[in-house]
Amino acid sequence: MPDILDQARTQVLDGGVGLDEAGVLAVLRLPDDRLSAALQLAHEVRMRWCGPEVEVEGIVSLKTGGCPEDCHFCSQSGLFASPVRSVWLDIPSLVEAAKQTAKTGATEFCIVAAVRGPDERLMRQLREGVAAIRAEVEINIAASLGILTQAQVDELVELGIHRYNHNLETSRSYFPNVVTTHSWEERWETLRMVRASGMEVCCGGIIGLGETVEQRAEFAAQLAELDPHEVPLNFLNPRPGTPLGDRSPVAPRDALRAIAAFRLAMPRTILRYAGGREITLGDLGTRDGLLGGINAVIVGNYLTTLGRPASEDLALLAELKMPVKALSATI
Ligand code: SF4
Repeated sequence: MPDILDQARTQVLDGGVGLDEAGVLAVLRLPDDRLSAALQLAHEVRMRWCGPEVEVEGIVSLKTGGCPEDCHFCSQSGLFASPVRSVWLDIPSLVEAAKQTAKTGATEFCIVAAVRGPDERLMRQLREGVAAIRAEVEINIAASLGILTQAQVDELVELGIHRYNHNLETSRSYFPNVVTTHSWEERWETLRMVRASGMEVCCGGIIGLGETVEQRAEFAAQLAELDPHEVPLNFLNPRPGTPLGDRSPVAPRDALRAIAAFRLAMPRTILRYAGGREITLGDLGTRDGLLGGINAVIVGNYLTTLGRPASEDLALLAELKMPVKALSATI
């Protein structure tokens, strides 16, 4: 059998064809002394097929907490004893968050709501919020509102929503272990409608939910089949009060192996380092990820002004000579 990294160099780096499930699994099983070679190759693949630009994105929560679903990792579920209460954001604060995000040079501003799917109240809030942001800020607007109907997909397109985030969270085979109130297939169906609508698809998940390494490879292959524009890769940050609150974070080397493997499965996607990077990888996380296949970061946070994390990340991008993707290039 050829060495998996030799195979990936030819197939992924030269040919632009991502690794299949077996190939991803082989990368996830690489011994520690091959990890830096895997990250280096993933970085070359990212530079070759995506370029040096980094997409910077801000996120704001329009409705926080009190979600009726039972995703076992999520502190926003209203079914667990997690300390997140249901809170709605007002429109002026939403616009302020968009302004702060745009100031970083970010191209995307994602409006998120902790819901199973939107109801009429949420759609009304979204309509008003999008109009208010457009009146004052030049930025692409993305949304993450859970499971959609076709009519809601159509309305988001009318509103000019540029990208829709809906995570599959984990592999199809493992999903029923972490969510029982809706199915993986319901999520997939929303993603299928979003894709067909012409909106960009943003879909990722969480590593470290208790899935096996085989299921991690299965998940990468399922994402590659969906071929999303962007994949946010989270690492479990165990939240007190949730069913997964006592799990240990992913071992740093396993997290880095996952970053390399997901990049080698999806050479052209925007691979975004999302939640859990600090707890999983410490201060070195952003740098290692950005030199191992990651090409998007989230900056700032709702109602925190441009804090240290945003300016630190932007300084790091400058140091690594990775320009922030310009808005004009995305519209
Ligand atoms: S649907 Fe979203 S907000 Fe609700 S519990 Fe699941 S992950 Fe959390």
